[in-house]
Amino acid sequence: MSQQKFQSQDGKVQLVGAGPGDPELITVKGSRALETADVIVYDRLANPDLLSITSEESEHIYVGKRPGKPSVSQDQINHILITKAREGKKVVRLKGGDSFVFGRGGEECMALKAADIPYEVVPGISSALAAPAFAGIPVTHRKVARSFTVVTGHTIKKSDSFEEWEHLAKADTLVILMGMRNLPNITERLISFGRDADTPAAVIEKATYESQQTVVATLATIADEAAHLSSPATIVVGELASKGKELNWFQKESIEQETTTNEKFVTNFAG
Ligand code: SAH
Repeated sequence: MSQQKFQSQDGKVQLVGAGPGDPELITVKGSRALETADVIVYDRLANPDLLSITSEESEHIYVGKRPGKPSVSQDQINHILITKAREGKKVVRLKGGDSFVFGRGGEECMALKAADIPYEVVPGISSALAAPAFAGIPVTHRKVARSFTVVTGHTIKKSDSFEEWEHLAKADTLVILMGMRNLPNITERLISFGRDADTPAAVIEKATYESQQTVVATLATIADEAAHLSSPATIVVGELASKGKELNWFQKESIEQETTTNEKFVTNFAG
């Protein structure tokens, strides 16, 4: 058996969820996969700091959006994954959040399966969960929300189905990804399908990064109040979104406020 043939039998692809941003939020399994990978194919929402744990010899291929340049198509990405695995390489396809949550992981698995390339999926913490968590917004809560729904806000203009919006307007907690550009349309649509305009709503921008920003308002006001925030941001609609005010534990301002209060307390106490 030639060396080449032996190698090509060893090649495989691991679809690894990088988590929402904070590099510590990748799984242990995901980080081990990165450490031992020959090739890492990554995109915009995977925190590039994670590449620092890869081996020096590893090859890094960026396939995310590049301003002013044509983006790499899904077919091209599939081609890269297949070609590198056929060379006998251990390939990590690194995606922001979880690969199977609006991450095209399904398409990549289908392409790999068709090409007879072994693959594994290492789940990641999706921003759909991490953004509310880092804003202090539980997505379920006894007696308040027994379920949560995750939806893309990207296709709202195309999806005019009455049933879909009637259903979304009734969700206990609605988590919307890729919704910032369409936020005014989304809130209008939810209200027109019966959701109370006073329902709490929150937008969490760059969740889990130090620069995270959160705005908590109502369905009627959130589009204006959060107009200064931009992608990547996660929108949460439902009673529990109001918890973002009282349970916020992460953002700098509140930590600073606490420190000042503590210092004051200490000063007063000492004085
Ligand atoms: N697979 C990813 C989602 C990809 S879709 C996941 O599981 O998280 C991209 C959308 O995810 C963005 O438009 C935004 O709505 C959301 N998103 C990703 N990273 C985020 C972050 N750090 N903070 C807030 N939202 C984020």
